[in-house]
Amino acid sequence: MRDLVDAQTWKSSEFNVAVTSFFGDEILSFNTRTGAFQAWNKADWADVERALDAPETLRQGPLVSLLANLGMIVPVEREERAEMEQAYLRSKSTRTGTMLTITTTISCNFGCSYCFQSHSKEKMKQADGDAILRFLDRTLAPDSYLSITWFGGEPLMNFDFIDDLTPKLLALTKERNCSYHPSIITNGYLLDERVLDRMRVLPPMSYIQITLDGGQASHDTRRILLSGRGTYARILDNIERAAGLAPIHIRVNVDSTNMDQLTDLADDYFARGLDKKNVHIYLAHTRAYTEHSDGLDSTELSKADYANLSMQFEWYLFQRGYQGGLSLPSAKGGSLCTADTEGSYVMSPAGRIFKCWNDAANTDSAEFAGRLNPDGTLDVAQDNLRHWEDHNPYQYAECQSCKVQPLCKGGCPWEAKKREHLDIGDCSVLKWTLPDKLRLYRMKQVLAEMRPADAAQPPRTSEPHGALEFACPD
Ligand code: SF4
Ligand code: SF4
Repeated sequence: MRDLVDAQTWKSSEFNVAVTSFFGDEILSFNTRTGAFQAWNKADWADVERALDAPETLRQGPLVSLLANLGMIVPVEREERAEMEQAYLRSKSTRTGTMLTITTTISCNFGCSYCFQSHSKEKMKQADGDAILRFLDRTLAPDSYLSITWFGGEPLMNFDFIDDLTPKLLALTKERNCSYHPSIITNGYLLDERVLDRMRVLPPMSYIQITLDGGQASHDTRRILLSGRGTYARILDNIERAAGLAPIHIRVNVDSTNMDQLTDLADDYFARGLDKKNVHIYLAHTRAYTEHSDGLDSTELSKADYANLSMQFEWYLFQRGYQGGLSLPSAKGGSLCTADTEGSYVMSPAGRIFKCWNDAANTDSAEFAGRLNPDGTLDVAQDNLRHWEDHNPYQYAECQSCKVQPLCKGGCPWEAKKREHLDIGDCSVLKWTLPDKLRLYRMKQVLAEMRPADAAQPPRTSEPHGALEFACPD
């Protein structure tokens, strides 16, 4: 056995990334496939570089064991990308549970200019809920899971529907020994004491996602009531009230019109102590998803500019003491999102079924992935499902040499649907931000290791370095 191990021939992993640390005398390595992170002093790193330069000459020893454990070297016969592709294809055709995005209403109380939906007044009725229950009765496998995302329009405009259906969903999952994971994506305006009181007796949400678009000045010009009135102060009050009920994720949509006003929001966030109340905050790239997203072509940030901005924002939050966004990125194990996952559907009023959230308000029957019948059976539109079933991001030529591929997996399948030429996927922001993410992560690690008195005075460092040292092909 020992002879066999010694006889192993190694090669370097295709997914090694190395950057200088904010702490000048160390190098940080990260393998995007295994997620293994390591800080090295310069002398040890020189040994690692020599090993990675001639991996075929390596013989068993402590350094080889360490590099193999980190995934930085792999047996020469391993085909890492082919293995990932096989795992992806296996996972997307294997049903492990049921994920439903339920569009309780197409209607919305806001009139955001960039919204990708066109809003009618349509909402789900009892008959829709009954059909969903019958569908689950037919399909929910025992000992699996049921994940529900309440979506809209604005889902709280039909809270009665959520209130009515939830106990029935819960009863069904208990009967089948399934776990139940509800979450909601809301603009937060209606999340007042009356709704919260009712939510408190329902199973806790895995998370509540609420959107705020910068500080009051920018938010109140973008996310307005249909009457034109601003919504910022009321939403922040509601977030404060809801904190503790479930983790809250504040999503901040950014484009060139509000990119200068993000710190105003962060300042309000800290002033209200939300960073201590399981309320998290992150940026999202505002993009022209559909023809209903008015005027976005001129205000949309380039990927690189958005990436730079998101890193600057993380840095600002970090300096204010927030560490929520500083975990290491992890490889996407299975399918990418609801659209390429087996057993996952977006369910809209009147039985309209889709695979992608962007379609939730679509009423064009030519685009339906299927129809949910009153008896819970599903009429599948096989032609419209084909894009999602056939989607294989490992076929993009330019992704074949990308070190970020395990973290990105070619990005949003909806974007792929829109494009004619698929040489490259919809690049993850990590393509630009990974080096600084690793540096910030290391800083957090070092601060955690310090005595509390030292941690109050973090070491002086420079601003984020940017992506210059990172060898990911553009
Ligand atoms: S296809 Fe894209 S937009 Fe649609 S659910 Fe997936 S990630 Fe979201
Ligand atoms: S889409 Fe871009 S970031 Fe993602 S794997 Fe392909 S080249 Fe890399």
